[in-house]
Amino acid sequence: MQVPHPKELFEQLRQQNRAALARAITLVESRAPKHQEAAAELLGLAMPYSGNTLRIGITGVPGVGKSTFIDTFGSLLTAEGKRVAVLAVDPSSARTGGSILGDKTRMERLSQDEAAFIRPSAAGDTLGGVARASWEAMILCEAAGYEIILIETVGVGQSETSVAALVDFFMLLMLAGAGDELQGIKRGIMEMADLLVINKAEGDNLQHARRAAAEYRNALHLFPAHPGGWTAEVLLASALQQEGIAEVWHTIGRYVDLTRPNGYFQQRRREQAVLQFNEHIQYQLELVRSSKPELESFYHQLELDVASSRCNPYEAARLFTQRLFAS
Ligand code: GDP
Repeated sequence: MQVPHPKELFEQLRQQNRAALARAITLVESRAPKHQEAAAELLGLAMPYSGNTLRIGITGVPGVGKSTFIDTFGSLLTAEGKRVAVLAVDPSSARTGGSILGDKTRMERLSQDEAAFIRPSAAGDTLGGVARASWEAMILCEAAGYEIILIETVGVGQSETSVAALVDFFMLLMLAGAGDELQGIKRGIMEMADLLVINKAEGDNLQHARRAAAEYRNALHLFPAHPGGWTAEVLLASALQQEGIAEVWHTIGRYVDLTRPNGYFQQRRREQAVLQFNEHIQYQLELVRSSKPELESFYHQLELDVASSRCNPYEAARLFTQRLFAS
């Protein structure tokens, strides 16, 4: 890829040019050293446009209905005149290069909606890399006029923790089980959620769903108080039949109305920015390392030394940083 001119690309982005947005995201995802400066300048230009946006994280096990929900929910938002971007943080793309999320065809209505932008999962060697790339993509989408960002992740491993650290509001989609409602859901995820939505609450399943909702509400009382003064809620929905979706949006609105005036909303973003700073230091180090073969091989040698107990991790880290600064 030729190095695009950041100011030109930014101007096109501001004019809501989707092709420019896609190119901008590709630029910031690039690991090539020659792209780094342009990427940093572009992000710097884009950052001031993030103030009035809303970032919503959505997680849940495969099959719970995340893409159906996002299709319905996103369409409701665009019908209200909002512009919506959908991004995915996909742990499988970090591991295998393949993707189980972010596939356009999974959101049929939204993918044909002029007011929506869907970006398949960012490439990355690690989940941290994917999350960092998603954060940058989000900044660019916001500068391109998408005021609502939906970030989807599958509820496995650590990906939901990464997503919770990217968003203003985090929701967990769930299914009502038969009497064993609290099984199989990691307590940690529930603790992070600002909203639980029990999906597929329709027809014969409605009674189950109501019972599950009552159990979850009880369980939520046992969790530590939310730092923003919010109390996590439980709602029922049917993404397929488009029921309960407006209530979800209404609840998110109440959350924003509470946490913007009390400052928590902004505080959460500031903390997230610091987290990104730390991620970036790690990333910049990786870039320097991989651009210098002798550093790269020294690093791998140290890894082997640590693995075989020839060198302890602290000493290895010290030796590596010493070489890094001397290079
Ligand atoms: P994801 O893996 O979490 O993205 O789940 P999908 O959105 O792909 O949905 C998995 C399956 O559940 C699909 O066959 C959907 O049509 C179905 N589904 C999603 N939401 C609902 C719902 O509210 N009710 C019913 N009955 N089926 C649903």
